[in-house]
Parts: sequence; C-alpha cells; structure tokens
Amino acid sequence: VDLSWTPQDYVIAIDVGGTTIKTALVTEPGQIIDRRRTPTPGTSAGAVIEAVLREAESAVQWGAQRIGRPPLAVGVASAGLVDEMAGIALHSAALGWRDVPLRALLAARTGLPVVLGQDLRAAALAEAGEDPTAPSFLFVAIGTGLGAALVHRGSVDAGARGLAGELGHVPVAPGRSGDGQPRRCGCGARGCLETQASARALRRGYRDRTGADLSAEQVAHQARNGDSDAAAVWDDLIEALTSGLVAATALLDPGLVVFGGGVSLAGEQLLAPLRERLAARYRLAAPPPLRVSALGDQGAVRGAGLLGWQHLRTPERVR
Ligand SMILES: [Zn+2]
Repeated sequence: VDLSWTPQDYVIAIDVGGTTIKTALVTEPGQIIDRRRTPTPGTSAGAVIEAVLREAESAVQWGAQRIGRPPLAVGVASAGLVDEMAGIALHSAALGWRDVPLRALLAARTGLPVVLGQDLRAAALAEAGEDPTAPSFLFVAIGTGLGAALVHRGSVDAGARGLAGELGHVPVAPGRSGDGQPRRCGCGARGCLETQASARALRRGYRDRTGADLSAEQVAHQARNGDSDAAAVWDDLIEALTSGLVAATALLDPGLVVFGGGVSLAGEQLLAPLRERLAARYRLAAPPPLRVSALGDQGAVRGAGLLGWQHLRTPERVR
C-alpha cells in the first residue's frame, strides 16, 4: 500500500482535436472528476496554440477551485504526428501546425511538468487501462483518416521517429479514381489504406458514384438499408481494411484488434464481414478476435490523463 497517495491528487488531461479541445481532471485510478470542452479555433496554427495554452492555464485555476489544491502535472494528447520524446507536435493538417514545441510552451505557461503524446496512441493506452489483463493488442482508429497503435504490456512503441502505426498509409487499393489509378492520399502517395477505409473515403466514394454528399454515418446507414451504391462503398472499405489487417496481423501477431473512431460505431456492420474475410485471407493461424472500443470519443482524453500520471511516476522514460 502506497501511503503517500491521497485521493485529492490529480492531473490535468487535455485532448487537442481538430474540432474540439477536451479537458478533464483525472485522479490516479483513472477517475475523471470533472470534464469540459471548448471548440478548436479555425485552422491558424497561432490561434490553436494560444487556445491550448489558455485552456491549460485556465484548467489549473479550475482544478484548484474544484479540488482545493493545484494539479501535479499536465498530460496532453494531440492530433497529427507527434515526437513524444522531444515534446514536439510535428504536423497536423487539421490543426494547421508544424513543428510546435508544445511541451515546452505548456510547461512555461503553467509552471507544471507536461507530457505530450499523440491522440491515437493515448486512446490506445486508455483502452489498455480499461483491461489491464488484455493481451498485446492492436488499436485501429478509423475516423477522418486511419491509424493504429500496438499496445504491449500497457505501453505503446512510437517507433524511431514517432511514425509507428501509420497503417493508413500502407498501400492496398487497386485503381479507383476516374483515371483508373489508385486514389491520391493526403500524404502524396496513391492507394493508401485510408483512401478506401476512412470516414473521408466513405463520403468521397459515395459522392463519386452518385453525386450526393452524405456523411460517413449516413453512408453506413444507407448501406444497411438496401442502397446498392452505399453497400458497394462500404464493401470497398471492408475489402481494403481486410488487406491492411492481413498485413498488420502477419507482422505483429496481435492478440486482439480493437477499433475506435467514428466509423467503428457501425459495430457488427464493420466487424462481421471483416471477421469472415480476414479468416479467408489470413491462413497462418486463427485470426485475432475483433471488437469495438467502449470508450467512444473519451479515449484520448483518458489516455492524456494516464500519460500525465505515468510521467509523474517515471519522468525519464515516458512515451
Ligand atoms: Zn497516404
């Protein structure tokens, strides 16, 4: 029993996303005492940085009023590419920034220890936190884009340059755009998995076929309700995702695959055909079980809280 722990100790957790900045006060057992959210301003890097700094500063006051003592640290999860060791937000198209020394800026503004992580890896950590006995598992987030993180013994390896898990940029797709070439990806290459398997891909695929602009959620709904164009676009997603999962399974042998992100809300509409095709195309052994995360859109902010606590315990080796 650690007698130094008191129930009043807490960290501030911040999830910086393309549309919302989510903030929470988190005690050591991963309990969220209170939470709030604020819109992410525009796509000007300067405005977003200032909004994050202002929110962190204000959250220190909020925590002190709410709990009656100052927070111990700040854990931040950011969208985009993040160099966690250097504490630098490398690039995010959604946030409009590049090479932002966010950890140092936040530490200067709050006077607290700060740890910076990537939203997807933070959500994967939170997923492990929900089930500490889980085997090594692959977390796959399918939102606007697609990314993954392998969780092993409660931690995520971010790779040599913080680029591990970019499953969305593995080439899988045959020709799909008008010129018969694989679709161009936001990264500049063609045929990346996320050009077929993401919310953006569902929307674009349906528009290319019908001229109608539906949300990804609406395309999924239409596919369930007999719209053959929506069903074909959904099938493209399943087919591409199967190719990506075969590669990931062969390379990593995860004990489980957990899906997060908005597209995962489709549940069995996603999982049932994936299980079937993965079993048909991955023949080395039984494929890993697949399931959907129960954390919804709270994974990254929960993970940011875990990062803050990990940092306090082992400041020199936080990822
Ligand atoms: Zn790409």
